[in-house]
Amino acid sequence: MKLKRLLILTFSLICLITAQAKKSDMDKIETFKSLGYAYDTVITPHGVPVNLIFIKHGSIALEFNNFLIYIDPVTMFGNDFSKLPKADMIFVTHEHGDHFDKKALDELTDKETVLVTNGRVRELFGKGEVMLPGERMEIQAENFTVTGTPAYNTTEGHLQFHPKDRKDLGFVFNIDGLRIYVAGDTEDIPEMADLKDIDVAFLPVNQPYTMTPAQAVKATETIHPKILYPYHYGQTDLKPITDRFKGTDIDVRVRQLQ
Ligand code: ZN
Ligand code: ZN
Repeated sequence: MKLKRLLILTFSLICLITAQAKKSDMDKIETFKSLGYAYDTVITPHGVPVNLIFIKHGSIALEFNNFLIYIDPVTMFGNDFSKLPKADMIFVTHEHGDHFDKKALDELTDKETVLVTNGRVRELFGKGEVMLPGERMEIQAENFTVTGTPAYNTTEGHLQFHPKDRKDLGFVFNIDGLRIYVAGDTEDIPEMADLKDIDVAFLPVNQPYTMTPAQAVKATETIHPKILYPYHYGQTDLKPITDRFKGTDIDVRVRQLQ
């Protein structure tokens, strides 16, 4: 079983090497720009710009060296993915409709796209590489790693939304030394204390599915990212979070990620 997984991962890497050869494509970020998508640029320790693209709610994208990663792309908020550049990789945290959407996946996938997700989405979609919380994947062709993180509810009465044993995911991307944590649908779980040197964190804030603002504050204090993006926040008032970190070394940035 272990060998089979390794073979699958090796196969994925070969696909990615092919993907890397497509560098003659128009800069993918230009397409996002032309369609009015907002993004921020952060720079890795070795000077590589990484664009963080804000799509909506739990849908974001990361672009560096014209390599494009989507996380949880969904059409339910009106985004038209057929107009956007195809994905080099897609990561799906879990099966809920605001994270997993077959239409969006189909529209963003070409023959070289690699999908990584949890076991349940693999079962429902019939495609994708399965990642478990704690597993690490090295994408040698593009010199970055991704580690799966756990994502689950801890509050009595909310446990059924994201049960721990379903192994829903969050991800830590390490791109040229820049560490980006995308938490997925989770509360402020103890495993967050193990996350070290996070530069950028995306933490979900909405009720009853993920964190309250107070929980998000606690999670942010634990993780201590340089930049915090509250995301997946719906109608939640984020003022308790922005107020708490005003004037600190944590830069809280609110973007259109309702
Ligand atoms: Zn969910
Ligand atoms: Zn969600």
